[in-house]
Amino acid sequence: MQQHSPLPSLLHQPAQLSAEQKQQSRRHCGFGCIFCGCPVYQYFQLDGQADALLICPLHQRQLQKNLLSPSTLQQRAERPINLDRQHLPGFKYDPHRRIQLSVGMNTLYADLPDAGGEHPLIWVNGEMFFCLHADRHWLSFSFTLSDAAGQTLLQAEQGELLHYPPDWEFSYDVMTLKIRDGQKRLLFTAQLCNDRVMITKGLFLDEHKDGFAVEGNRVIAMLDGQKGGEYMQRLEPGRYQGGWALFNKVRHPELVMPGSFAFICATKRKSL
Ligand SMILES: [Zn+2]
Repeated sequence: MQQHSPLPSLLHQPAQLSAEQKQQSRRHCGFGCIFCGCPVYQYFQLDGQADALLICPLHQRQLQKNLLSPSTLQQRAERPINLDRQHLPGFKYDPHRRIQLSVGMNTLYADLPDAGGEHPLIWVNGEMFFCLHADRHWLSFSFTLSDAAGQTLLQAEQGELLHYPPDWEFSYDVMTLKIRDGQKRLLFTAQLCNDRVMITKGLFLDEHKDGFAVEGNRVIAMLDGQKGGEYMQRLEPGRYQGGWALFNKVRHPELVMPGSFAFICATKRKSL
Protein backbone atom coordinates (compact mmCIF):
# COMPACT_ATOMS: atom_id res chain seq x y z
CA MET A 1 0.00 0.00 0.00
CA GLN A 2 1.15 3.52 -0.63
CA GLN A 3 0.53 6.70 1.27
CA HIS A 4 1.34 9.87 -0.55
CA SER A 5 1.15 12.47 2.22
CA PRO A 6 0.13 12.70 5.86
CA LEU A 7 -3.48 12.13 6.85
CA PRO A 8 -5.40 13.63 9.75
CA SER A 9 -4.08 12.21 13.00
CA LEU A 10 -7.18 10.15 13.78
CA LEU A 11 -6.80 8.14 10.54
CA HIS A 12 -4.04 5.73 9.71
CA GLN A 13 -3.32 3.00 7.21
CA PRO A 14 -3.34 -0.35 8.99
CA ALA A 15 -0.10 -2.29 8.58
CA GLN A 16 -1.87 -5.53 7.78
CA LEU A 17 -5.48 -6.54 7.31
CA SER A 18 -6.55 -10.13 6.84
CA ALA A 19 -8.74 -11.09 3.87
CA GLU A 20 -11.65 -11.46 6.33
CA GLN A 21 -11.07 -8.00 7.82
CA LYS A 22 -11.02 -6.49 4.33
CA GLN A 23 -14.22 -8.29 3.40
CA GLN A 24 -15.88 -7.11 6.61
CA SER A 25 -14.74 -3.52 5.91
CA ARG A 26 -16.05 -3.66 2.32
CA ARG A 27 -19.42 -4.79 3.63
CA HIS A 28 -19.39 -2.08 6.30
CA CYS A 29 -18.72 0.62 3.67
CA GLY A 30 -20.98 -0.61 0.86
CA PHE A 31 -18.07 -1.61 -1.39
CA GLY A 32 -16.96 1.93 -2.18
CA CYS A 33 -15.39 5.12 -0.85
CA ILE A 34 -17.38 6.27 2.17
CA PHE A 35 -17.61 9.82 0.72
CA CYS A 36 -18.35 9.32 -2.99
CA GLY A 37 -18.99 5.60 -3.47
CA CYS A 38 -15.95 5.16 -5.76
CA PRO A 39 -15.28 1.43 -6.32
CA VAL A 40 -11.48 1.82 -6.04
CA TYR A 41 -10.00 2.74 -2.69
CA GLN A 42 -7.54 1.95 0.07
CA TYR A 43 -8.22 0.83 3.62
CA PHE A 44 -7.89 3.23 6.54
CA GLN A 45 -8.42 2.79 10.24
CA LEU A 46 -10.24 5.46 12.21
CA ASP A 47 -9.35 5.63 15.90
CA GLY A 48 -12.02 3.89 17.94
CA GLN A 49 -13.70 2.09 15.03
CA ALA A 50 -13.41 -1.66 14.50
CA ASP A 51 -13.93 -1.87 10.73
CA ALA A 52 -11.51 -0.21 8.35
CA LEU A 53 -12.87 2.52 6.07
CA LEU A 54 -12.70 2.55 2.28
CA ILE A 55 -11.43 5.89 0.96
CA CYS A 56 -10.68 6.73 -2.69
CA PRO A 57 -7.55 8.67 -3.78
CA LEU A 58 -9.56 11.87 -4.41
CA HIS A 59 -10.95 11.88 -0.89
CA GLN A 60 -7.61 10.86 0.62
CA ARG A 61 -6.24 14.03 -0.97
CA GLN A 62 -9.12 16.13 0.33
CA LEU A 63 -8.52 14.77 3.83
CA GLN A 64 -4.81 15.54 3.53
CA LYS A 65 -5.62 19.13 2.55
CA ASN A 66 -8.11 19.47 5.44
CA LEU A 67 -10.95 20.05 2.97
CA LEU A 68 -13.13 17.59 4.85
CA SER A 69 -13.92 18.28 8.49
CA PRO A 70 -13.45 15.65 11.21
CA SER A 71 -17.23 15.71 11.74
CA THR A 72 -17.87 14.88 8.04
CA LEU A 73 -15.37 12.05 8.35
CA GLN A 74 -17.11 10.78 11.48
CA GLN A 75 -20.50 11.05 9.84
CA ARG A 76 -19.49 9.11 6.71
CA ALA A 77 -17.59 6.55 8.79
CA GLU A 78 -20.88 5.75 10.49
CA ARG A 79 -23.02 6.10 7.37
CA PRO A 80 -21.04 5.42 4.17
CA ILE A 81 -22.69 6.97 1.12
CA ASN A 82 -23.20 3.64 -0.69
CA LEU A 83 -25.46 2.51 2.14
CA ASP A 84 -27.48 5.70 1.77
CA ARG A 85 -29.43 4.52 -1.25
CA GLN A 86 -31.19 7.81 -1.93
CA HIS A 87 -28.02 9.23 -3.39
CA LEU A 88 -26.36 6.45 -5.32
CA PRO A 89 -27.37 3.07 -6.73
CA GLY A 90 -24.29 1.64 -5.06
CA PHE A 91 -23.09 -1.86 -5.81
CA LYS A 92 -25.84 -4.03 -4.39
CA TYR A 93 -27.36 -5.87 -7.34
CA ASP A 94 -30.70 -7.52 -7.87
CA PRO A 95 -30.02 -11.27 -8.26
CA HIS A 96 -33.08 -11.54 -10.54
CA ARG A 97 -31.64 -9.06 -13.04
CA ARG A 98 -28.69 -9.67 -15.31
CA ILE A 99 -25.76 -7.33 -15.07
CA GLN A 100 -24.97 -5.59 -18.36
CA LEU A 101 -21.33 -5.78 -19.38
CA SER A 102 -20.19 -3.50 -22.21
CA VAL A 103 -16.69 -3.11 -23.54
CA GLY A 104 -16.75 -0.49 -26.29
CA MET A 105 -20.04 -1.08 -28.15
CA ASN A 106 -20.17 -4.80 -27.43
CA THR A 107 -22.60 -5.92 -24.79
CA LEU A 108 -22.82 -9.14 -22.85
CA TYR A 109 -24.57 -10.12 -19.65
CA ALA A 110 -23.46 -11.71 -16.43
CA ASP A 111 -25.46 -13.91 -14.11
CA LEU A 112 -23.58 -14.00 -10.87
CA PRO A 113 -24.37 -16.90 -8.57
CA ASP A 114 -26.18 -16.11 -5.33
CA ALA A 115 -23.39 -17.56 -3.25
CA GLY A 116 -20.83 -15.15 -4.68
CA GLY A 117 -18.07 -15.92 -7.07
CA GLU A 118 -16.46 -14.08 -9.92
CA HIS A 119 -17.03 -13.25 -13.55
CA PRO A 120 -13.99 -12.65 -15.77
CA LEU A 121 -14.57 -9.86 -18.29
CA ILE A 122 -11.18 -9.22 -19.93
CA TRP A 123 -8.71 -12.09 -20.09
CA VAL A 124 -5.37 -12.07 -21.94
CA ASN A 125 -3.13 -15.14 -22.21
CA GLY A 126 -4.20 -16.53 -18.87
CA GLU A 127 -4.10 -13.23 -17.00
CA MET A 128 -7.25 -11.55 -15.76
CA PHE A 129 -7.36 -7.85 -16.65
CA PHE A 130 -10.90 -7.10 -15.52
CA CYS A 131 -13.05 -9.21 -13.24
CA LEU A 132 -16.30 -8.78 -11.30
CA HIS A 133 -16.59 -10.27 -7.82
CA ALA A 134 -19.84 -10.92 -5.99
CA ASP A 135 -20.27 -11.01 -2.23
CA ARG A 136 -23.81 -11.24 -0.80
CA HIS A 137 -25.15 -9.53 -3.96
CA TRP A 138 -22.64 -6.73 -3.76
CA LEU A 139 -20.17 -6.14 -6.57
CA SER A 140 -16.51 -5.30 -6.46
CA PHE A 141 -13.97 -5.11 -9.27
CA SER A 142 -10.41 -6.20 -9.92
CA PHE A 143 -8.52 -4.73 -12.83
CA THR A 144 -5.10 -3.98 -14.21
CA LEU A 145 -4.21 -1.04 -16.46
CA SER A 146 -1.05 -0.97 -18.53
CA ASP A 147 0.81 1.50 -20.67
CA ALA A 148 1.35 1.03 -24.42
CA ALA A 149 4.54 -0.96 -23.69
CA GLY A 150 2.60 -3.51 -21.65
CA GLN A 151 3.97 -2.36 -18.30
CA THR A 152 1.48 -2.59 -15.43
CA LEU A 153 0.67 0.88 -14.11
CA LEU A 154 -2.31 0.28 -11.87
CA GLN A 155 -3.59 -2.76 -10.07
CA ALA A 156 -6.85 -2.97 -8.16
CA GLU A 157 -7.83 -6.15 -6.32
CA GLN A 158 -11.45 -6.37 -5.20
CA GLY A 159 -11.50 -2.58 -5.25
CA GLU A 160 -8.29 -2.15 -3.26
CA LEU A 161 -5.69 -0.06 -5.10
CA LEU A 162 -2.49 -2.04 -4.64
CA HIS A 163 -0.42 0.37 -6.66
CA TYR A 164 -0.76 3.30 -9.03
CA PRO A 165 1.43 6.28 -9.94
CA PRO A 166 1.20 8.93 -7.18
CA ASP A 167 0.28 11.78 -9.54
CA TRP A 168 -2.76 10.01 -11.04
CA GLU A 169 -6.21 11.48 -10.44
CA PHE A 170 -9.42 9.60 -9.77
CA SER A 171 -13.03 10.72 -9.88
CA TYR A 172 -16.31 8.87 -9.49
CA ASP A 173 -19.21 10.95 -10.67
CA VAL A 174 -22.61 9.92 -12.07
CA MET A 175 -21.53 6.28 -11.56
CA THR A 176 -18.52 6.83 -13.83
CA LEU A 177 -14.98 6.14 -12.71
CA LYS A 178 -12.41 8.24 -14.56
CA ILE A 179 -8.68 7.91 -14.09
CA ARG A 180 -6.24 10.51 -15.46
CA ASP A 181 -2.46 10.66 -15.45
CA GLY A 182 -0.36 13.52 -14.04
CA GLN A 183 -0.82 15.47 -17.31
CA LYS A 184 -4.61 15.10 -16.93
CA ARG A 185 -4.80 12.72 -19.89
CA LEU A 186 -7.74 10.36 -19.60
CA LEU A 187 -6.57 6.75 -19.23
CA PHE A 188 -9.66 4.91 -18.05
CA THR A 189 -13.40 5.49 -18.16
CA ALA A 190 -16.01 3.04 -16.98
CA GLN A 191 -19.55 3.28 -15.74
CA LEU A 192 -19.62 0.99 -12.72
CA CYS A 193 -22.69 0.41 -10.60
CA ASN A 194 -25.04 -2.33 -9.44
CA ASP A 195 -26.52 -3.22 -12.84
CA ARG A 196 -23.87 -2.31 -15.37
CA VAL A 197 -20.19 -2.29 -16.19
CA MET A 198 -19.46 -0.19 -19.28
CA ILE A 199 -15.82 0.29 -20.19
CA THR A 200 -15.16 2.96 -22.86
CA LYS A 201 -11.48 3.70 -22.27
CA GLY A 202 -8.57 1.62 -21.11
CA LEU A 203 -5.42 -0.22 -22.10
CA PHE A 204 -5.14 -3.86 -21.03
CA LEU A 205 -1.85 -5.23 -22.39
CA ASP A 206 0.39 -7.96 -21.02
CA GLU A 207 4.18 -7.74 -20.90
CA HIS A 208 4.40 -8.89 -24.55
CA LYS A 209 1.92 -6.17 -25.59
CA ASP A 210 -0.86 -8.66 -26.27
CA GLY A 211 -4.29 -7.53 -25.11
CA PHE A 212 -7.03 -5.00 -25.74
CA ALA A 213 -7.21 -1.25 -26.25
CA VAL A 214 -10.68 0.19 -25.61
CA GLU A 215 -11.31 3.56 -27.25
CA GLY A 216 -14.89 4.80 -27.15
CA ASN A 217 -16.93 2.38 -29.27
CA ARG A 218 -13.91 0.44 -30.42
CA VAL A 219 -12.27 -2.60 -28.89
CA ILE A 220 -8.93 -3.21 -30.58
CA ALA A 221 -7.20 -6.54 -30.10
CA MET A 222 -3.42 -6.07 -29.94
CA LEU A 223 -0.76 -8.69 -30.63
CA ASP A 224 2.87 -7.73 -29.97
CA GLY A 225 1.71 -4.12 -29.77
CA GLN A 226 0.22 -4.29 -33.28
CA LYS A 227 -3.47 -3.88 -33.98
CA GLY A 228 -4.91 -7.32 -34.57
CA GLY A 229 -8.51 -6.45 -35.30
CA GLU A 230 -11.46 -4.42 -34.16
CA TYR A 231 -14.66 -5.60 -32.57
CA MET A 232 -17.48 -3.17 -33.08
CA GLN A 233 -20.50 -5.37 -33.59
CA ARG A 234 -23.40 -5.00 -31.27
CA LEU A 235 -24.45 -8.37 -29.93
CA GLU A 236 -28.02 -9.41 -29.38
CA PRO A 237 -28.97 -8.52 -25.82
CA GLY A 238 -29.30 -11.50 -23.57
CA ARG A 239 -27.74 -13.99 -25.92
CA TYR A 240 -24.26 -14.20 -24.53
CA GLN A 241 -22.71 -14.57 -21.17
CA GLY A 242 -19.02 -14.09 -20.93
CA GLY A 243 -16.21 -11.72 -21.62
CA TRP A 244 -13.44 -10.80 -23.98
CA ALA A 245 -10.47 -13.06 -24.19
CA LEU A 246 -7.32 -12.91 -26.24
CA PHE A 247 -5.28 -16.00 -26.65
CA ASN A 248 -1.91 -15.91 -28.41
CA LYS A 249 -1.44 -19.60 -29.21
CA VAL A 250 2.00 -19.13 -30.69
CA ARG A 251 3.47 -17.76 -27.50
CA HIS A 252 1.27 -19.75 -25.13
CA PRO A 253 0.50 -23.12 -26.74
CA GLU A 254 -0.10 -24.65 -23.30
CA LEU A 255 -2.93 -22.33 -22.31
CA VAL A 256 -6.49 -23.55 -22.13
CA MET A 257 -9.34 -21.06 -22.37
CA PRO A 258 -11.44 -20.94 -19.22
CA GLY A 259 -14.20 -23.37 -20.06
CA SER A 260 -17.22 -22.18 -18.13
CA PHE A 261 -17.74 -18.98 -20.11
CA ALA A 262 -18.85 -18.34 -23.64
CA PHE A 263 -15.99 -16.12 -24.56
CA ILE A 264 -16.30 -14.38 -27.87
CA CYS A 265 -13.54 -12.85 -29.93
CA ALA A 266 -11.46 -15.55 -28.45
CA THR A 267 -8.63 -17.03 -30.33
CA LYS A 268 -6.19 -15.02 -32.36
CA ARG A 269 -3.18 -16.57 -33.97
CA LYS A 270 -0.02 -14.57 -34.19
CA SER A 271 1.07 -14.35 -37.81
CA LEU A 272 4.74 -15.12 -38.12
ZN1 LIG B 1 -14.20 9.20 -2.69
